[in-house]
Amino acid sequence: MAGKKFWDKNEKLKPAELEALQLKRLKWSVKHAFKNNPAYNKRLKKAKVEPSSIKKLADIEKIPFLTKDDLRTYYPFGLVSVPMEKVVELHASSGTTGKPVVGTYTVNDLDVWGEVMARNLYRIGIRKEDRMQNAYGYGLFTGAHGFERGAQKIGALVSPLSSGNTQRQAMLMKDFEATVLAATPSFCLYIAEVAQGMGMDPRKDFKLKYGVFGAESWSEEMRKKVEDVYDFKAQDHYGLTEIIGPGVSAECPERCGLHINADHFYTEIIDPQTGETLGPGEKGELVFTSLTKEAFPVLRFRTKDLSILHDEKCACGGTLPRHARLMGRSDDMMKVKGVIVFPKQIEEAIMNVKGCSENYVIIKSKKGAIINLAVQVEPDVGVRKTSFKKIEAAVAKEIMAILGLKVPVKVVARGTIPRSEGKAKRVIEK
Ligand SMILES: [Zn+2]
Repeated sequence: MAGKKFWDKNEKLKPAELEALQLKRLKWSVKHAFKNNPAYNKRLKKAKVEPSSIKKLADIEKIPFLTKDDLRTYYPFGLVSVPMEKVVELHASSGTTGKPVVGTYTVNDLDVWGEVMARNLYRIGIRKEDRMQNAYGYGLFTGAHGFERGAQKIGALVSPLSSGNTQRQAMLMKDFEATVLAATPSFCLYIAEVAQGMGMDPRKDFKLKYGVFGAESWSEEMRKKVEDVYDFKAQDHYGLTEIIGPGVSAECPERCGLHINADHFYTEIIDPQTGETLGPGEKGELVFTSLTKEAFPVLRFRTKDLSILHDEKCACGGTLPRHARLMGRSDDMMKVKGVIVFPKQIEEAIMNVKGCSENYVIIKSKKGAIINLAVQVEPDVGVRKTSFKKIEAAVAKEIMAILGLKVPVKVVARGTIPRSEGKAKRVIEK
């Protein structure tokens, strides 16, 4: 790769240097929230934490966790820690259940956001000569705005297409010669399907080098599928409205976890049941603390996202710590006949079977306290009806191998399962 390898010098800090910087910033962040926000002041005092209680990084464990429910209590501006006239932008989560989570930003916060996004995109391989088709939805949602800020900071060209309008996405991707597609993986595959219907070959007619995917949990098998349909590298990216939006972490070309911008977001991993802090290599729930945010400081936010922290060296030369690709959200977790099931595991089983397409749905039904699952999947293009039975049996066998559960599988005609132009709905409750 020509030119510099990293966007920012903080991506190469020695562990002791990073920790010193994190501690300095953590002290600032706690003091800022304590002094300038009445709700934080009350919460911290109740837990007997004062800014002076933070002497080392491990002292963070004295601070109470902040949950999604807490954020609802403080809706919309209860945790804003600067005078409102200093707030210049706000975003909100989709809020499918109840009130959304609102993120607020000062001018400085927006700078940091652009910076961490630029780092993530640069880490993936995006440079100023690239052209990014931004197919995340513009609006209150953070996704599209974060990607735009980061890509423009690098100097890349952004086409702000937003989500939806699939035929237009395909046409303009070709005409504008986009080299980067920012979208959900399911929407990316839908664009390919539509492009093929328009007589295009996504491997030949597009100039894409990278697909940058987040906002949806997607398996390694799904990655293979996307990289088979398009001639590009599909890289994982992570962020959430509560922390800053996209920009928290991203994969480097080594693909051995996502490097966290840990000089801005301090990361812990905890046991989701007990709240106890876990060590590197242990699976648990990600917890983030913002270290530089002014408008909306976040102290120990429980994400409900399950992962593992890695602190070994990465071959890319970057020293920022990494977390494994998300195993799933504890929100998505289902308990079926005593077995813990994540939708991503079923995706993995489906993708392992030749003849299956990426279009699938898990149907969850409840009979009293008993949960039952069933799977519907569409075949790949050109798969004959005579092989449906064989595919159904093969997927059921894969699910049995991965989960030890007997789940009925049905292959349905192509076009039966609704496509997604944003975040795919993989589980339907009946
Ligand atoms: Zn790396």
